[in-house]
Amino acid sequence: MNEELTPEIISEFYRTKFPLDKFMAFIGLSDFKNREFGFVVGENRFIRNISFENTKELREFMATKSVKHAYVGAVYEQSPSRYSPIQKIKWKFREFIYDIDINDFDLVRTCGCQGYSYCTDCWSLVQDTVLFIDETMRQDFGFTDIIWLFSGRRGVHGWIKDKITNNFDQAQRVAILNYLTMVHDQKRTQTIEEIPNEAKPLRDRIYSIIAKSYLLNSSEESLVEIGIAKKKAKDIIQRVKTSSEFDAQTYNLIIPSNQTVRNKLSHEIILKRYPRIDRKVTMDTRRVSRMPYSIHGNTGQLAVVIKDIKSFYPDSAPNVWDALK
Ligand SMILES: [Zn+2]
Repeated sequence: MNEELTPEIISEFYRTKFPLDKFMAFIGLSDFKNREFGFVVGENRFIRNISFENTKELREFMATKSVKHAYVGAVYEQSPSRYSPIQKIKWKFREFIYDIDINDFDLVRTCGCQGYSYCTDCWSLVQDTVLFIDETMRQDFGFTDIIWLFSGRRGVHGWIKDKITNNFDQAQRVAILNYLTMVHDQKRTQTIEEIPNEAKPLRDRIYSIIAKSYLLNSSEESLVEIGIAKKKAKDIIQRVKTSSEFDAQTYNLIIPSNQTVRNKLSHEIILKRYPRIDRKVTMDTRRVSRMPYSIHGNTGQLAVVIKDIKSFYPDSAPNVWDALK
C-alpha cells in the first residue's frame, strides 16, 4: 500500500472520482431500486439489505460513510431494506459469477507464496483459469457478455451478464460448475478426475491451455520424477517452447506412449494447474460480490475491468491515490 487509506481519501474518491456511469453501465439500469448492496463501514462492520432510490443516493451513502468495502448483490421484486430483508422478499435475478482467488491454489503452489501473497509464477495460475473459463463459457455455452473484474487484492471475478443466465437457479448454476470441475475437495483429499473423453472442446482446451502451461513451467527434473527419461524430458520442454500452436495433437506427439507415464502426467497437470473455482460464490444466487470500480479497503486498489488477462498483474492495477492525483 502506498499511503494510509483514510476515511477522508475514501470519501473524496467516491465524491469526485468513482465512475458512477460506468458502474451503472456494468450492472444495467433496470431494477436499480430493487438491487441489494452491502458495505463494510466504520470499524469493519458488515451491513447488507441496503438499496437506493437512485444513483445519487448511492454515491452520497458511499462518500458520507467512507465505505471500506462495497458489494453488489441480486435484484429482488421489491427494495431490500432492514424492514424487508432479502430472506423475506422475492428474488428476481442475479448475474452468473465466478470467483477466482490465488489462495485457492495454496496446496499446489510451488513458488513459496501462500495466502494473499503472489508472484508472476503463481499469478499465471489465475491467468490460465480466466482464459480457460472464458473460452469454455463462450465456446461450450455460447455466452457472449463476459467481463473479468480485478477483485482489488488477490483474485478476479468473472461476471457473465448474458440475460439468459440472470434467471438461472442454483441447480442450473451447479450444472455448469459440474461440467467444469475436475479437482474435488481441494482442501483435503484433492480427488482428480480423468481428462474427459466425451467433452471434446473441454478436453482440447485442457491441452492447449493447461497442459501447455504445465510443461512450460516444468523442469527436466520434475518430468524425470514422473518417469520420463532425461533426454526425452529435455526434448519435450524444447518442443513446447518452440511450438507456435500447442494442442492435443502436439501433446500426444511429444509425450511418451507409455500408459503409466501418460496417466501420471495428466494427473499432475490437472492437480497442479487446472482451474480451482470457489463454488459457493457461483452457486449462491443471493451472494453479494465486490462492486465494480470500488476501492478494496485493505489495499487501496480499485476493482477495475481487466482488458487483457494475459498482461494483467495486480501490482499494476490502479489505486485510489493514483485516481485522486
Ligand atoms: Zn508465487
